[in-house]
Amino acid sequence: MSAVSAPTPPLLEARHVSKEYPVGAGLTLRRRREVVHAVTDVSITVGAGEVFGLVGESGCGKSTLSRLMVALERPSSGEVRIDGINLSEIGGRRLRALRRDFQLMFQDPDASLDPRMRVGASVAEPLAAQRIGTRRERAATVARLLDEVGLSRDVAERFPHELSGGQRQRVGLARALSLQPRLIVADEPVSALDVSVQAQVINLLRETQVQHGLTYVVISHDLAVIHYLADRIGVMYLGVLVEVGPADRIYAAPAHPYTAGLVETIPRPAPAGQRGRRQAAIRGELPSPVNPPSGCRFRTRCPSAQDRCAVEVPQLREFGAGHTAACHFPLYPAAAGAAPSGSLSGV
Ligand code: SF4
Repeated sequence: MSAVSAPTPPLLEARHVSKEYPVGAGLTLRRRREVVHAVTDVSITVGAGEVFGLVGESGCGKSTLSRLMVALERPSSGEVRIDGINLSEIGGRRLRALRRDFQLMFQDPDASLDPRMRVGASVAEPLAAQRIGTRRERAATVARLLDEVGLSRDVAERFPHELSGGQRQRVGLARALSLQPRLIVADEPVSALDVSVQAQVINLLRETQVQHGLTYVVISHDLAVIHYLADRIGVMYLGVLVEVGPADRIYAAPAHPYTAGLVETIPRPAPAGQRGRRQAAIRGELPSPVNPPSGCRFRTRCPSAQDRCAVEVPQLREFGAGHTAACHFPLYPAAAGAAPSGSLSGV
């Protein structure tokens, strides 16, 4: 196993995954069809029982990647594998059966809850769709799941609009747990919630992960949330993976200037002794994914950019302990002597 791979047997693998979307329906004046490069050549391995955090600004491609991971979309190139099974090579009944193993939790729980259905019916719906249990058994499962996510059982009789945002997100988690999945991909699970409620839902996610031995991929623009939840962190910028490593290391000693900018945006005092290599918060706007910058995609906003950055795409390089970053002039001191890994394009 590569030093940058997940520490446990892989459950989820994204191999050189790219996703492009055509822009508009017609042709440009130059008769060349433009595409949005939403995700470009991303490779990630997530081990069974691991919590992997994906972080980046809005528009960095992390939500697209999450949909690819649970087969809601298919990659333009590359492959996503669950337990070694290429999701692009299966369909129909086999994919539906495999879908029991992975669930997507949405940023807005309303996206997964039918406003016309009572909560109990919504939580039981995946079980009914898979024809699991009798009506009575499903009702018992719903009651148990509501207990587990800290809701009273009478919530089963209410409609989503009668609940608070935090309660709806708890219902969303109960629904995601109903099929006893092995993998939950949680896309911005707390960003729509009040700050006072966020910590409760984050703690609930951690408790359920430990209790069920679940594998999580948690996606957020907030590095503080990701650091709290994740064992390892992957940082995305404009569709590409720019840094991967153990959560504490990424948080305390980022090698990539973009990650350092994300760390700086967290409202807390910098640890003693690390001020010198911290950057100012990220400046400027995210470039268009239709026409990303040449070389390093971060170069138009990077305070460390040099001429080389415009002509040469940086490859992920290894810094030890499973820490990799794609930067020609990394911040992490050990990077100065780190040898490029050449073909390494992910983890
Ligand atoms: S490769 Fe250059 S532009 Fe890109 S992050 Fe590193 S220093 Fe900045």
